[in-house]
Amino acid sequence: MRERFEGIVLFKRKHREHDALVKIFTAAYGTKMFFIKRLEKPNHPMGSQLIPLTMNEYIGTINQEGLSFLTEASTIQFNRLVQSDYTVQAYAAYISQLVDSVVDDNVPNLLVYELFKLALALLNEGKSPEIIATYIEIYLLKGFGVQLKWDACVICGAKQQPFDFSIRQHGVLCQQHFSEDEFRLHISPKAMYITSLLAQIKLEQVQTVNVSQETLAEIRRLMDEIYKEYVGIRLKSKSYLDQMLENDRKFIQILKRDKPTEE
Ligand SMILES: [Zn+2]
Repeated sequence: MRERFEGIVLFKRKHREHDALVKIFTAAYGTKMFFIKRLEKPNHPMGSQLIPLTMNEYIGTINQEGLSFLTEASTIQFNRLVQSDYTVQAYAAYISQLVDSVVDDNVPNLLVYELFKLALALLNEGKSPEIIATYIEIYLLKGFGVQLKWDACVICGAKQQPFDFSIRQHGVLCQQHFSEDEFRLHISPKAMYITSLLAQIKLEQVQTVNVSQETLAEIRRLMDEIYKEYVGIRLKSKSYLDQMLENDRKFIQILKRDKPTEE
């Protein structure tokens, strides 16, 4: 039977010479793989609705297992900034791979779908991609089976900051209990403050705050440690993002070096 449904494109992959397989996160049926005939040929009628990170309405045949099929598509949200700004796109691609890793195929997951949709909308409005990606990473930890305590010290329950993060204790430590973990991560107080705040608010409450590059780098170090220690997945989009951040860092160093100094 033909169905009408909404979805966000996760990725597309060439199949045989002219066809493609497109994975779409649908609101009603979860993530599904679609077989698209002749998508690799120019001027495919659904070409712009099968671009990764766009949100569209589709008409097609949904199969519970195996491949599904599309007959028509219309754009709901093209997410122009996500498509055109390479930094925003790199973060959006990373978020999309995280989402794809955490949800089970062919099982509806409206909570994660709505979160993903909102994250893309905020990225497209120009909100900080670093902060949005961190929010999604924290939120999805539960889905990866990881429960962490962010709002109070895991030892005594104190909410008084500064906090630091302990991988061994699965959460934050207050200053009195820093000694409980000799391998605590020594994350800057400001980065800890922002991260524990993100763990406690809704995504719609995330505002664009002025966060320095140093603090963003600390937040990244914290999230990378958490994902490395507890989740242990390797995503291509994450390696790409890391490479991009590394290049940016080098570029900033060159700029600093070239700045005339008073001597
Ligand atoms: Zn404590």
